[in-house]
Amino acid sequence: MARVTTPNRIRGTQDIFGEDQRRFAHVLETFDRVRRLYGFQRVEIPIFEDTQVFARSIGETTDVVSKEMYTFADKGGDSITLRPEFTAGICRAYLTEGWQQYAPLKLVASGPVFRYERPQKGRYRQFHQIDAEVIGAAEPQADVELLALADQLLHELGIAEGVTLQLNTLGDAETRDAWRTALVAHFEQHRGELSEDSLTRLEKNPLRILDSKDPRDRPIADAAPGIDDFLTSEAGAFFESVTSGLDAAGVKWTRNARLVRGLDYYRHTAFEFVTDRLGAQGTVLAGGRYDGLIESLGGPATPGVGWAAGVERLAMLIGEPTTQAVDAVVIPLGPAAEARAQGIVAELRRAGIAADMAFRGNMKRRLSKANEQGAEFALILGDDELATNRIVVRNLKEGQQATTSIDNIGKVPLSLLWQIPTGGQADAAAHPIGRLLAEKPE
Ligand code: ATP
Ligand code: MG
Repeated sequence: MARVTTPNRIRGTQDIFGEDQRRFAHVLETFDRVRRLYGFQRVEIPIFEDTQVFARSIGETTDVVSKEMYTFADKGGDSITLRPEFTAGICRAYLTEGWQQYAPLKLVASGPVFRYERPQKGRYRQFHQIDAEVIGAAEPQADVELLALADQLLHELGIAEGVTLQLNTLGDAETRDAWRTALVAHFEQHRGELSEDSLTRLEKNPLRILDSKDPRDRPIADAAPGIDDFLTSEAGAFFESVTSGLDAAGVKWTRNARLVRGLDYYRHTAFEFVTDRLGAQGTVLAGGRYDGLIESLGGPATPGVGWAAGVERLAMLIGEPTTQAVDAVVIPLGPAAEARAQGIVAELRRAGIAADMAFRGNMKRRLSKANEQGAEFALILGDDELATNRIVVRNLKEGQQATTSIDNIGKVPLSLLWQIPTGGQADAAAHPIGRLLAEKPE
């Protein structure tokens, strides 16, 4: 027979297992807990959308749209794109599903996103994001609340120490136009020294040159005019409200006047939470205010502000989460006990006790398996116990054991069960806990 080769995992995708999965799950659980504290409701949106949803809102000139999207024609010939982020899809839903009536809306989403990039540590083609948005609120308080949510999340994940919130303003439309004109004039003077990529950006998206990573561009970008000279008084006041709100909320931040966002529609607040611990992949969470995005999708002028974070990058930074232990392992000895043990594990699980059954190897092997699983109790059932409807409860941490009626399983806490004095019913009845057990709860 011809040798069958196993198909490979697709480049840039991940199978997440063991400790990696526990880290991943811990990030998502913490996010879900913290977003509730801030009154953000969760939404589920499609993994694929009409290509126009992303092309129009993210902007044709961004890296994401110009080279990173997974776009294909489906069997009906429609152009479909796997979501490279959440904001565009959420804004599409806001318009097509009539969510406008609930504005202002505080929403979160999470799940896989797709970008055709060169895979490396912390950079994948299918990765996962957590995302938070406030849609329909033009007030700087929305920006503050969203940033406080991000800050608390990082604190609760235990990684706030190594991470800095870098904050900037991109001003309002008037500010941005004036700044853009000055930037273009500056970059035009240095045309000859710019990288090819930045020459293209100069035509299409000159702000983007400011965060170029190419060493040829850096000195020119660093010498470029800053936005502060162009801020209108309204834009200045908005930024002042955001920063004083952050100070009041106890959120630490630093100004980075060079920080820009790729999207064409970003206005006012722009921010990144950056770590020095992940090398080139140092941005763990990023976002800003995107007044204008919803109009680009054919909706009415609607303010919005949001952020997204890479789950994998957060998962790499956190401490190792504890493994989830089972509370009890049932050890049956012999076929009759095995059948009865199925009923006992089921009873334990229905009572909310995490339980497993050890049915392989000798007694010693089974006990050590129970220990490896972190179980506090082993419940041992042999032919002798079966005959008297009793079971041995062994406290694995203390190394002591007691015998009790099988009927007590799932009705009396295991922590009490093992303390029953050994011996017959009479002894048990004399002991305070034994009396409790002897009452045979319903
Ligand atoms: P980068 O500069 O690293 O490419 P970006 O500006 O493209 O980031 P955003 O579009 O702002 O990133 O996405 C938000 C977050 O998603 C990032 O801060 C990062 O944590 C994460 N992220 C982005 N691209 C990837 C990827 N290819 N693999 C894993 N995580 C990613
Ligand atoms: Mg990118």
